[in-house]
Amino acid sequence: MITGPSGVGKGTLIRALLERCPGLELSVSATTRPPRPGEKDGREYHFLDPREFDERVGQGEFVEHAVYAGHRYGTLRSELDRPARGIVLEIDLQGARQVRKSLPAATQVFIAPPSLADLRARLESRGSDPPEQIARRLEVAPTELAAQEEFSCVVVNDDLDGAVRELVDLAASMCAPDD
Ligand code: 5GP
Repeated sequence: MITGPSGVGKGTLIRALLERCPGLELSVSATTRPPRPGEKDGREYHFLDPREFDERVGQGEFVEHAVYAGHRYGTLRSELDRPARGIVLEIDLQGARQVRKSLPAATQVFIAPPSLADLRARLESRGSDPPEQIARRLEVAPTELAAQEEFSCVVVNDDLDGAVRELVDLAASMCAPDD
């Protein structure tokens, strides 16, 4: 599972990781946040309304779920049933703590920014969230960064190619070779 503050570049790193590691697949999370322009239901997220999200939580369909910056996010059990060599979860700190309990064998990676100022600059320049969302995401970032020592592996995203290499090496060490 891959965790780190919003804006740190998890999405870009994960896309690069999946391109380089055939057989690794991304778990598509469910969320109640509205889609961003260009996002498609079932591809970036399963977009659910809050009532359906609650119902599915009640039916035990989630491995983990959390509220992040005012919206709900969670990993559906069905996403982990894929016949893949490895499944990547991109989840927040609260979700990571839940998965650590329920799936203790999962590799836990934390992606850290070079600095908080760098994170702020990235969140502001990517322009995908309204100012209120950026503020909420920056508010929780110090708590998230303080928790990085809970993770078995920390990758600092100061150089994209270097960070991708670290992730690919990690994935290679986790995945058994094909028969
Ligand atoms: P965004 O709204 O930017 O796509 O995601 C916001 C945060 O929600 C990110 O830090 C991301 O890691 C987290 N997130 C995405 N999917 C899940 C999930 O399934 N469970 C949890 N707990 N967090 C998630």
